[in-house]
Amino acid sequence: MTITVIPMSTSASAHPSPSPIADGGSVTDRLVEANRRYAADFTDPGMDARPVLRVAVVACMDARLDLHAALGLELGDCHTIRNAGGVVTDDVIRSLTISQRALGTRSVVLVHHTGCGLESLTEDFRHELEQEVGQRPAWAVESFRDVDQDVRQSMQRVRTSPFLPHTDDIRGFVFDVRTGLLREIHPAS
Ligand SMILES: [Zn+2]
Repeated sequence: MTITVIPMSTSASAHPSPSPIADGGSVTDRLVEANRRYAADFTDPGMDARPVLRVAVVACMDARLDLHAALGLELGDCHTIRNAGGVVTDDVIRSLTISQRALGTRSVVLVHHTGCGLESLTEDFRHELEQEVGQRPAWAVESFRDVDQDVRQSMQRVRTSPFLPHTDDIRGFVFDVRTGLLREIHPAS
């Protein structure tokens, strides 16, 4: 049995000709080549590891969300913690705890978005996985139907974590992949 993956709806049409590989190499070869060009122009910024703006951003891994560009962030400004859905899992709490306690961040910004792939999944995904591979994953899929409520739940998980010393500046947003605009979600509304 195979898992059915429903393609996410996207506003723009897909790439007209999906050819990430120009010269017959793998996509990773292309990335490594891009890195050579990057490093050629790179100068040591002389920063330490503590984010300049003392903020950690937790966001979905969605390819249409360019966090640094969308939020006006520069190199060294913030921690970025990303996963499918921007879900506040135990491992995200682990990263936030290190971010705040060891690396000096104070604020947390959560960014979910419209058209998220998790909206097209259900917890059935786990059961289908179990049937296919004979083992049920320990993690929840964390699928959702209401993105606003999902952001509120994420804010609540950060706010109530016993490990985080700084929970007075936690804000959550939905990024619209069609307009590029953030819409703030208020915890109690
Ligand atoms: Zn997403």
